Amino acid sequence: MLNNSIRGLLLALAVFCFHTSNGQEQEGACITTWYHDKPGAVSISFDDGGYTQYTEAYPVLEKYSLKATFGIVGEWVREEPSMSAEPNYFEIRKMGWKQLLELYDHGHELAAHGYRHERYNKFDPVDTLARHMVQIKLLIESRIHQPVLTIHYPYSFASGNIHEAALRAGFLFGRTGLDTVNSGTPRDMHLLATHSILNAHEPDSTTFLRWLDQAEGNWLILMYHNLFSENSREMSLIHGHNVEYSYSLPKESFEMQVRETIYRDYWIAPISTVGKYIMERDNTQLRFIRCKDKIILVASTNLDTRIFNQPLTLEVNIRWRKVKVTDGLQDKICETKNNKLLIDINPESVIIISKTK
Ligand SMILES: [Zn+2]
Repeated sequence: MLNNSIRGLLLALAVFCFHTSNGQEQEGACITTWYHDKPGAVSISFDDGGYTQYTEAYPVLEKYSLKATFGIVGEWVREEPSMSAEPNYFEIRKMGWKQLLELYDHGHELAAHGYRHERYNKFDPVDTLARHMVQIKLLIESRIHQPVLTIHYPYSFASGNIHEAALRAGFLFGRTGLDTVNSGTPRDMHLLATHSILNAHEPDSTTFLRWLDQAEGNWLILMYHNLFSENSREMSLIHGHNVEYSYSLPKESFEMQVRETIYRDYWIAPISTVGKYIMERDNTQLRFIRCKDKIILVASTNLDTRIFNQPLTLEVNIRWRKVKVTDGLQDKICETKNNKLLIDINPESVIIISKTK
């Protein structure tokens, strides 16, 4: 929080960002819809903690420097990889804490996916449901020592009291099904829509590209499970059981989908990272103060910056070609492009932009 008297003074000086009706931009600044002014956001998410997420997906994500969200089922995680299954289904090797913590240490998000892999009962009271959800939340937090912000509802089932319970349990974001994309400002952060990868052919490439088209200006969340190769033991078991959806695709198909997403230049980030950006963007006030050869930008928010620490991107419209940007930590010389400058700021910060030669 800024000191109140400084806040008052800045308010008195404030000039807000505006655009003239003929589209010509005046001097001003605003927070871009997406980080780094990307055309849309995509989150890659995984469920159930299958071991191939570590052996097959993780190397692809590392190759392209991407971070994803991994939903964990509490009772399926041992220290080392282990076999587990839900009733009447064959066992699949799961990641242990060793693998999950490695993912976390590399910047991936760990999300709750139920202590047990069971649908929550939508008729249970909110308090009861929240108590169940807190169980998996605390289990993960005891390992990462940071708050777990995202829940992937088991079976994407979030009807009745379930999404309200997620809020009560302290989750900021809840991922459900719905087979669509989220808008730039989702109506309910505890009911985030997801497109699911059902097998190697569903979605087919045309459908997948259509989903990417829909991500323009929006937030697409993809849900993956396993990356079994066609000749693996697991795939023959799946075929043998006549399962309709294998929830699995080969590594090559996964990498193809990742490449298509990168090609669109979307912002690819974990669910809590994109969610935090949206909440900060919509709850940060910006003051633009112009004095001679300097512009002072003041960002302030009512959100708790210990959690809401995702940098925001500002688009600053100025007529100077070369500027010095000072954020209190370091000075940086930047050149504007078409009278525009993109800079990253914290939701609670003061930036000074000075004209330089
Ligand atoms: Zn699941």
